[in-house]
Amino acid sequence: CGIVGVTGNSDATNILLDGLQQLEYRGYDSAGIYVNDQAGNDFLVKEKGRIADLRAEVSADVKGSTGIGHTRWATHGVPSKVNAHPHVSANGRFFLVHNGVIGNFAQLKEEYLSDVKLVSSTDTEVIVQLIGKFSDEGLSTLDAFKKVIGLVDETSSYSFLLMDKNDADTLYVAKNKSPLLIGVADGFNVVCSDAIAMLNQTHDFIELVDGEIVIVKPDSVKIQKMDGTEVSREPFHVDTDA
Ligand code: GLU
Repeated sequence: CGIVGVTGNSDATNILLDGLQQLEYRGYDSAGIYVNDQAGNDFLVKEKGRIADLRAEVSADVKGSTGIGHTRWATHGVPSKVNAHPHVSANGRFFLVHNGVIGNFAQLKEEYLSDVKLVSSTDTEVIVQLIGKFSDEGLSTLDAFKKVIGLVDETSSYSFLLMDKNDADTLYVAKNKSPLLIGVADGFNVVCSDAIAMLNQTHDFIELVDGEIVIVKPDSVKIQKMDGTEVSREPFHVDTDA
């Protein structure tokens, strides 16, 4: 339902929680964040209910400089803590938030994940488990992400925000039929499904096109097509004074 991400800001936890709070008007049933401090510590916090309930679960030591957050509007699996995003791969390495619906998740699960025990009943978890599996088989994170996107059928809608614990200042981004923006801030970058979530951080946003893969680091935004061709696109400015 709502997605936020940030990389390169030591206040990542608050930026994510504040961003999710700005998205509350859209309605949702649960929420969660994952943050990584680049020093070997990371935190996954999920809760059913309001952002205030999630915030209450976030203790003072949940600190990070890169992270992702999600408010969920359940389509597959009841509203619950275990079905809330971010979802984690079985190897504990990949963390994913997703807006939308994966049309062929059941087939993908049957075909590729018979040996993986899924913990949630969401369509989303299948995606992060596939990324973990293809990574374990030797693909780079980018190639595993692209391979899974290639397996998702055309009826699906998604915006994905993926983190890899072994490359923890990077956000991997893709979308299809679901809105997603990259916000270019002063010394760091953000991602959001709606600019309103990040207007406290920046007014400069890059719009993404279906089929693009974006690699966001604290000091760079690299957009490419599925075939690897680089795309260059300037941010647009959101004027809120008018
Ligand atoms: N289909 C996913 C789920 O049910 C994502 C729903 C959403 O967009 O919030 O968990």
